[in-house]
Amino acid sequence: MQYRRLRGTHLDLSRVAYGGLALYYQHPDAAIELINAAIDRGINYFDCDEAGNQFVPNLVYEDTRKKLGQVLKNRRNEVYVGIKCMFARADEVARDIDKALNFIVKGTSREIIDIFHFAHVDVDEKLDLLLSPDGGLAAAERAKQEGKIGSILIASHNPRVLMRALKTGRFDVAEFPFTIIEPEYLDDVIPYCADHNIGTIIMKPIGGGQLAQCASLSLRWIAQHDVDCIIPGMKSLEEIEQNITAVIEGGALSAEELSALTEISQHLGAEYCHRCGYCLPCPQGIHIISQFDIYKSTLFGIEKKQEIYRQMKARGTRTAADCIGCGQCVEKCPFKLPVPSLMERVERDLGGVSVP
Ligand code: SF4
Ligand code: SF4
Repeated sequence: MQYRRLRGTHLDLSRVAYGGLALYYQHPDAAIELINAAIDRGINYFDCDEAGNQFVPNLVYEDTRKKLGQVLKNRRNEVYVGIKCMFARADEVARDIDKALNFIVKGTSREIIDIFHFAHVDVDEKLDLLLSPDGGLAAAERAKQEGKIGSILIASHNPRVLMRALKTGRFDVAEFPFTIIEPEYLDDVIPYCADHNIGTIIMKPIGGGQLAQCASLSLRWIAQHDVDCIIPGMKSLEEIEQNITAVIEGGALSAEELSALTEISQHLGAEYCHRCGYCLPCPQGIHIISQFDIYKSTLFGIEKKQEIYRQMKARGTRTAADCIGCGQCVEKCPFKLPVPSLMERVERDLGGVSVP
């Protein structure tokens, strides 16, 4: 394994670290085995993700405690932890920090959240709220002074909003998706972070699974740029090994490899959601991005996706089934994705409604 200083922090992170979403969908025993194997292989950073629990207050951090928390009891000194917060108001953020501390790192040898994430800061309204005097960033800065958290990270799928945030000088680390399909972060975000000593963590390096057929090429393409840490989601020992080998030993892509990766990415591009959020809000209240995320994910098979989709509906969440085809999202989408027809496919394939 190689380690690299995460700029903006005092942490030396493994070049390949662990995207936690894959762990969320694992049985606790299997997840604990994977976490231990990853640490044995030199991975020293876990970027936690509660996925479906994220908005259910009494369940938030329950899954992470069950899995990573068990390992931390014995191996805390080998691991750094990133905790993902979806809130933006000061009171909610302060409560979330205390809850994560109590649930996950209390009783271990280092009672601190190493990297505290403001997740999904994709639209201006959320960033405005975070930065306001009553916003969550002030609460996180207080927690940092009190030693409850080590560093503050902003995660975004929208390079314009991310740049706005970074220019405040109040974030230590930036996390964003970066693949050959979404190279726009090379324009501003990556050079700005390098110039201003801001750490860079690359999420969704395999395009949320959509680049699975060329995962190693995608990881190598990312690793040849000036980024600190890459966090693929890994659901088996084989994937852990393959990803580490690709990043550490793969080297820069040859001309032939680059052309193969480019061809695959161009093919995906017409339907590739960049999760930038420009299409939101949808007048029907559909979180368009999450519908695509479930539909396109390769973390689990169709039956599991259908189960997750059913659970969303049962909780009253607006889904692709509520799309009325108004087309407002298409007008706002910079990539002109055919969202209404994609929503129809999501409902047909996950909702079980047969469309002739
Ligand atoms: S077409 Fe469907 S998803 Fe798009 S804005 Fe209208 S209702 Fe929402
Ligand atoms: S549908 Fe378009 S605007 Fe909406 S998140 Fe995806 S890429 Fe961005």
